[in-house]
Amino acid sequence: MFQKILIANRGEIALRVLRACKELGIQTVVVHSTADADAMHVRLADESVCIGPPPSRDSYLNIHQIVAACEITGADAVHPGYGFLSENAKFADILAAHNITFIGPSGDHIRIMGDKIEAKRTAKRLGIPVVPGSDGAVTEEKEAKRIASEIGYPVIIKASAGGGGRGMKVAHTEADLEVALQTARSEAGAAFGDDAVYIEKYLQKPRHIEVQVFGDGFGRGVHFGERDCSLQRRHQKVWEEANSPALNAEERSRIGSICATAIADLGYSGAGTIEFLYENGEFYFIEMNTRLQVEHPVTEAITGIDLVHEQIRVASGGGLSVKQEDIKFNGHAIECRINAEDPRTFTPSPGTITHFHTPGGLGIRVDSGVYSGYRIPPYYDSLIGKLIVHGRNRVECMMRLRRALDEFVVDGIKTTLPLFRDLVGNADIANGDYDIHWLEKYLAKEE
Ligand code: ADP
Repeated sequence: MFQKILIANRGEIALRVLRACKELGIQTVVVHSTADADAMHVRLADESVCIGPPPSRDSYLNIHQIVAACEITGADAVHPGYGFLSENAKFADILAAHNITFIGPSGDHIRIMGDKIEAKRTAKRLGIPVVPGSDGAVTEEKEAKRIASEIGYPVIIKASAGGGGRGMKVAHTEADLEVALQTARSEAGAAFGDDAVYIEKYLQKPRHIEVQVFGDGFGRGVHFGERDCSLQRRHQKVWEEANSPALNAEERSRIGSICATAIADLGYSGAGTIEFLYENGEFYFIEMNTRLQVEHPVTEAITGIDLVHEQIRVASGGGLSVKQEDIKFNGHAIECRINAEDPRTFTPSPGTITHFHTPGGLGIRVDSGVYSGYRIPPYYDSLIGKLIVHGRNRVECMMRLRRALDEFVVDGIKTTLPLFRDLVGNADIANGDYDIHWLEKYLAKEE
């Protein structure tokens, strides 16, 4: 087991990882920018190293500084959290070259899945169902038109290097296609430094369903069931649940087994998430994330298994603590992402939190790095916390969620809490009857 882990992240996820390390008796080092000197994870860590000024590129994305912090403190492993360097293959390779363990998969696996075209090809080869579309990158308009007419409109043009819901354009007719192809390519080039784009069928009413997988480091793969993340705004997840209200036990076990087998065949090690769109009983792979997800706690709630403990065990060579047959799904869990944003316009609302009071009681978990008097720096993601609620079934979970949202107090800034208070009272949400476009339509109606 590791002696000392360096946490290369900030906010709620840095604290989340720190808690797991403490439970396992592992020393912790955190790195932080000058803007985060007062952050909770800095206060609670055994050691902290300031690695630079506020902009991420000078601090949380500065590989050189982070490796230096490992050397100075003698950390033998790095947990990257999500975002920042968590899916940076070069970072994983550099750490390996310094004999520091990256708590995640190999640089090569990150590289394959980071390139969406390559990821889709790999998924297909591993027997995972994919969205119909081009076989690789598309550059010529003529070729784009041929593929689009083959698969049928509407189609979506996606950046191979895309992420965070950016770099996607929908074309409803052949007339839209030319402009969509050109804008997608130039936007991808500007945003990701790579203008490769591909085409796939645009599904009209899908749900976003993702499977939590793990490679144990010895060539075996397991799955921890699925999460339904269909409630999205601008392709960004807002509310996540496990299990999905749309799947039955047979579908769950079928897609889970396909994913677990693929992970084993790939020789993948550590945590991963295989994302699908699901429509009319069919699953279509869209991408794989090679890291811990923001929404991992809903899986933890229904399985009772700490996924960060498992990541650390696997990375240290100790394998998983459970086998597939030990993983049981118990009840229902929902997560609400609480952002420092206006609940209607979603514009960021940085500032000082004058009062912060979290709900409690049976089945309630709040993962957050903020506190009363905390000043939210304007430089980073606006997520300030996650409310995760567990119940014996979805009805009990919703009852508890409604009560917990009533108790939650965040004063001094605007947050997305009022949106969730509205959503728990909505009939479609109560029935679990929503697809990936539901929230956008709901917000448009409310305006
Ligand atoms: P990113 O890496 O930017 O998150 P994804 O490929 O995971 O991109 O897609 C993000 C979201 O975009 C999906 O959850 C879904 O809402 C939408 N999307 C992606 N591909 C399609 C598609 N083929 N049809 C319809 N919606 C799609």
